[in-house]
Amino acid sequence: MLRHLSHPVTPLAQNATLIWCDVTGTGAWVDPGADAADLAQIARDHGVRLEKILLTHGHLDHVGASAELARDAGLPVIGPHRDDAFWLDQLPDQARVFGVSEIAPLTPDQWLEDGDRIALGEVTLQVLHCPGHTPGHVVFHDPESRLALVGDVLFHGAIGRSDFPRGNGRELLESITGKLWPLGDDTRFVPGHGPESTFGEERRCNPFVGDAALALGGPAGRGRFY
Ligand SMILES: [Zn+2]
Ligand SMILES: [Zn+2]
Repeated sequence: MLRHLSHPVTPLAQNATLIWCDVTGTGAWVDPGADAADLAQIARDHGVRLEKILLTHGHLDHVGASAELARDAGLPVIGPHRDDAFWLDQLPDQARVFGVSEIAPLTPDQWLEDGDRIALGEVTLQVLHCPGHTPGHVVFHDPESRLALVGDVLFHGAIGRSDFPRGNGRELLESITGKLWPLGDDTRFVPGHGPESTFGEERRCNPFVGDAALALGGPAGRGRFY
C-alpha cells in the first residue's frame, strides 16, 4: 500500500511529498522544491529508503532541491514529460525571478510519457500526461490506494495558472476533465499547493472546473495562485 506525507517548501508552500511502499519501505520524493537536507532527514525519520525523485513539472518551486538531493542520496530524477525541458533549461532565470540562490539547469535521468508505469516497492504508479499549466506536466496515480499527485493541474477550489509561456487553458480543462475525473470521485489527490481533496469534491464545488461551472459555459476566469 502507498503511504504519503507532504512537507511544504519554499515561500509558495509547495507540497513536496514523500511517498513510499509500506511493505518494502521503498520511497520517492515527489517535487522536492527546496530544503534537500530536511527532505533526506524526513525520509530517514520514517524509515523510508529513497529510491528516486519524481517531478510533475519544471517549475522551480517543484524542482529546486532535485539536483542536490539526487547527488547527496544517489537518486535518479524521473520526469516530467520532455515538453517541460525548456522550463528546466530556464531554472537559472526562474531562480533570478524568485530571488533565490543560483541553480543549474536540470536534465532528468528519464523523461516520462503518458501511460508509463513507475515501480516503487510493491506499488505501481501510473503516469498521466496532463498539459495546460505547463506542456510537459505529468500526474502520478496509484489505483490501489486511489491517490493522485497532481502538481499544479488542480487545487482544492482552484486550477493551475495557464498564462505562462506555452500554457494553455483549454488543454488544462481537458487534462482535468478527460484524465483526472475518470480516475473516480473517491480518488484523493495531493495538489502542488494547499490542502488535499478528492476529485468528487472538486466536481461538486470547484468554481473553475466543477460540473456546475462547466455547465454554465466554462470556467469563471483563469486559474489562480500558482
Ligand atoms: Zn507550476
Ligand atoms: Zn507550483
